Amino acid sequence: MEKLTALFKRRGFVYPGSEIYGGLANTYDYGPVGTELLRNIKNLWWKEFVIKRDDIVGIEASIISHRKVWEASGHTVGFSDALVDCKKCKVRLRADQLIEDYLEKNASTLEEIDVTELVLPEVLSQEDVIHYIQEKKVEGFSEAQLDAIIKLHAIPCPNCTAVDWTPVRRFNLLFPVKLGIVEGEQSLAYLRGETAQGMFINFENVVNSTRVKLPFGIAQIGKSFRNEITLGNSVFRTIEFDQAEIEYFFNPRKDDWEKIFDNWKKLMWEFITERLGVTKENLRWREHSDKERSFYSKKTVDLEYKYPFGFKELWGLAYRTDYDLKQHATFSKHDLSIVDPETNEKIIPHVIEPALGINRLFLTLLSDAYIEEKDRIVLRLNPRIAPIKAAVFPLLKNRQDLVEKARKVYQMLKDSVDGKILWDDRGNIGKRYLSQDEIGTPWCVTIDFDTLVDDTVTVRDRDTTQQERIAIQDLANYFNNKLL
Ligand code: ATP
Repeated sequence: MEKLTALFKRRGFVYPGSEIYGGLANTYDYGPVGTELLRNIKNLWWKEFVIKRDDIVGIEASIISHRKVWEASGHTVGFSDALVDCKKCKVRLRADQLIEDYLEKNASTLEEIDVTELVLPEVLSQEDVIHYIQEKKVEGFSEAQLDAIIKLHAIPCPNCTAVDWTPVRRFNLLFPVKLGIVEGEQSLAYLRGETAQGMFINFENVVNSTRVKLPFGIAQIGKSFRNEITLGNSVFRTIEFDQAEIEYFFNPRKDDWEKIFDNWKKLMWEFITERLGVTKENLRWREHSDKERSFYSKKTVDLEYKYPFGFKELWGLAYRTDYDLKQHATFSKHDLSIVDPETNEKIIPHVIEPALGINRLFLTLLSDAYIEEKDRIVLRLNPRIAPIKAAVFPLLKNRQDLVEKARKVYQMLKDSVDGKILWDDRGNIGKRYLSQDEIGTPWCVTIDFDTLVDDTVTVRDRDTTQQERIAIQDLANYFNNKLL
């Protein structure tokens, strides 16, 4: 992970947020190369799940939203993390993460415990202990249970090794904002904690202003905000992040939810493995247990990726039933039911939600692509999302004829290839190749003396390092065909 974060900073992927003022925990800024990658990921997702589909429409809801949105959705009460502080070194941690890391690291010892021999506090049953030891997860456990687990295993502080924790307490993740300039007259609103609510509160608007009919989806990419306290692991968990979510509405009396759910699983898998080329062995599905799942969800699975710090959620898929629409109907007093024209019945649709974190996908793609070879670091990013599609080099910087010809090729590629093209005339060709390998540029184009004679260039492939001669007139097609 350190190598990756060093590369992020050195090559302009990601910088620590507010760095010149000493940094601001859990915030990051994306540099020029990282920004291109982030945009390419979003564009590809949008193209795949909105542009190419007849049954999904996109929206952009506002980030600041009415406090009632979050009261109705249950976030003001239920959207919280359980925290503990180490009394000795003062480090503050999420209790679930402290425990889960411990369970992960001590898995083999813990599996040998004879649970029947443990003296358990009232709040923990033997089934609970078996569950968390096997699953290495404590989502859905109460504060009292988390407290009891920490005490039962005398979990030490990962920072100072002391076993001296404050009691576990809840901390709401929503960011309140005060609107209005006059103190006392300000009204409370929230920065959204998920993009999903934007789809639910605009459900009626979308139905009335478009021709959607069930089953259909509303999609959105945008920032969400959560007051996270966990540090580290780069952009994996930050206080502001981009989500790409779809609320896929259907008639539960007509459509088989399990079929829709399985189809989304398939689409998610294909997007990650086929469109983006992520290594299948580094991915796994994990279904939430009854304890862990939100009370309104009938089924939730996470697509997890094996990050340098272990398997963690990348993309969630949840059957949220009609909970959200019903809540908003009650709180807003709007009738959010619709008539299914085929059956003529008035229903509140149910919803299945694929919810992806764009920044987590960014980290996934870079972790998966990072390879150290004997004499180079290379990012084998899929060309579709590579930040730079091709770099153009004149063989020699001080030969005007080469530079002029290279400039023409450069301009032609900028005009005809969908994506960023880079110019580089520093140092020697070998160094320029290595520099492009590190940011995952799939192709380098060199204009040399032969170009002046026969209008062909050398195209060097990032992954194989093989070079081939290609006519300038075929170059744009050559790249565009590979970027489809
Ligand atoms: P986690 O359990 O890791 O906190 P979550 O289950 O709360 O995630 P969801 O509410 O399902 O996450 O959000 C959907 C997606 O948004 C997640 O799969 C993840 O990719 C992303 N995400 C959630 N929280 C963050 C965060 N703080 N920083 C970056 N991405 C996030």
